[in-house]
Amino acid sequence: MEQNTNEEVVLVSACLLGQPVRYNGGGCADPALVLALAETEVIPVCPEHLGGLLTPRLPAELQGSDGAAVLNGCARVCDLSGADVSAAYVAGAHAVLALAQQHGATRAVLKQNSPSCGCGQVYDGGFHNRMVAGDGVTTALLRRHGIKVESR
Ligand code: SF4
Repeated sequence: MEQNTNEEVVLVSACLLGQPVRYNGGGCADPALVLALAETEVIPVCPEHLGGLLTPRLPAELQGSDGAAVLNGCARVCDLSGADVSAAYVAGAHAVLALAQQHGATRAVLKQNSPSCGCGQVYDGGFHNRMVAGDGVTTALLRRHGIKVESR
């Protein structure tokens, strides 16, 4: 990960900072990341919470495509029960983008594989731990707006 060399503001997945916001009630703290960003202004974000979802919640996966397709209305995010939760994911992505613009953030460090935060690969929609190429919904929206996204 790049070292912070100026007054930049960085969005970070809240779960990587240890906040218990994941679907299963846990976090996934990344001490090395916290250390690397110790001198940086960090904005914690959980797009799924910002979109109105609660913890705990059922796991959800992109169905047959990626976050860019969800933003285009061409694909969905569904939870394990089959419920379409796409609207919450899109709302959360726009809330994160608004925070980025409000704080002048040009970079984000987001949690890998998530249907919101994933960057470069996401679960394939079968709930079998298989991955496909693609970005999560929030990552796709941030990239559309020129924000650099890294995955952890
Ligand atoms: S991966 Fe993203 S959406 Fe999922 S719990 Fe972490 S911050 Fe929230």
